Amino acid sequence: MPLSANILDGKKLSTDIKNEIRAEVSQITQSGKRAPHLVAILVGGDPASQSYVRNKMRSCEYVGFSSTLKRLPSTVTEEELLEKVRKYNDDPDVDGIIVQMPLPEHITPQRVTQTILPTKDVDGFHPVNVGLMTLNFPCLLPATPQGILEMLERYNIPTKGKHCVVVGRSRIVGRPTSIMMSRGGHPGEATVTITHKYTPAEELKRICPQGDIVIVAVGKPGLITAEMIKPGAVVIDVGINRVKDDSKKSGYALKGDVDFGPVSEKASFITPVPGGVGPMTVAMLLRNTLLAYKMSHGMAEMEQMTKDLYE
Ligand code: NAP
Repeated sequence: MPLSANILDGKKLSTDIKNEIRAEVSQITQSGKRAPHLVAILVGGDPASQSYVRNKMRSCEYVGFSSTLKRLPSTVTEEELLEKVRKYNDDPDVDGIIVQMPLPEHITPQRVTQTILPTKDVDGFHPVNVGLMTLNFPCLLPATPQGILEMLERYNIPTKGKHCVVVGRSRIVGRPTSIMMSRGGHPGEATVTITHKYTPAEELKRICPQGDIVIVAVGKPGLITAEMIKPGAVVIDVGINRVKDDSKKSGYALKGDVDFGPVSEKASFITPVPGGVGPMTVAMLLRNTLLAYKMSHGMAEMEQMTKDLYE
C-alpha cells in the first residue's frame, strides 16, 4: 500500500520564522536602537544569482532589516572585491555580509569567504565558523544545513539514533549537514553516511534505501528514484535545477534532485522544489543576521562565550 508523504512546507515555515524575526526587530527598533543591517555583494549579472539576491533583499525589507545591495561588474578584480568586503567589515553599522556565489573564474571564492569577518559571516562559510560548528560550539551556522535541521525540528521528526544518508559533500550543504546531523543535541545524534561523486552508482542504490532520513544536495535532476527510498523515510531535497519546459513562460521549470512524484508515494515526509529548503535558507540567513546584530550589541545569550571563541 503506497504511503502518501506529508509535505515539509518550507514556504510556510519560513514565513512563520520571518514573522518571529519581524516581531523581535520591531521591539528592538521601538527601544530606539537601529535595525540589523545586511549587505549583499553581487558580482556580474547571472540571472539565478540576481533572483536569489533580490529575494534576500525583499525578505530583509519584510522583517524590518536595513539592507544594501552592492553590485559589482564581472570584470572587478579580486583585490577590489576584497577591499569592498574589508570596508564593510570595518563598518560598525553593518552586521552581516554575504557575497553571492558563484563568482567569476578569476576570483577565488575561498579568499573572499576568508576575508569576511567571522562575526559578520551570516552565510556561516568562514573556516572559523565551520570549525566552531564542527565542535558544537555557538557560532553562525551555515544557512542551508541550519534550515534543514530547523525543518526537522519544527515538524517533530526524530533524528536520534536514526540513519541519515547525505548525498553530496559540498562545503556549503552536504558536508556541514552531515556534521550537524551527527553532532550531539536535537536535531542530531544520527548515524550518518555521506556519499559523493566517487560513490559508485550501485553503492548509492544500496546505501540510500538504508536511510531513515535522506538528504540530497547534488544538482542532478531525478538522481534519487523511488527504488532508492525505503517506505516511510524522510526525504529532504536541496537540489534546484532549471529544466527546460516550453509550457512555462520562462522556458524552464525548477526541479529537485529527487523524482518527486514516485518518491512522495513512499516517503513519510518530503520537501517540494520549489517551496522546501530554499525559503528555509533565506529565513536562516535572516536569523543569522539578527544573531550577529545581537552579538555586537551585547544582546545574545551566548555573547560572552562567542566573544571568547571569536577573539
Ligand atoms: P556542489 O558544490 O556542486 O556539490 C555537489 C555535490 O554532489 C558534490 O559534493 C559532488 O561530489 C556530489 N555529487 C555529484 N554527483 C554525485 C552522485 N552521483 N552521487 C552522490 N554525490 C554526487 O553543489 P551544492 O552547492 O551542494 O548544491 C547542490 C544542489 O543544491 C544544487 O542544485 C544547488 O542549486 C542546490 N542548492 C540549493 C540550496 C537551497 O537553499 N535550496 C542551497 C544551496 C544549493 P564531489 O564532491 O565528489 O564533486
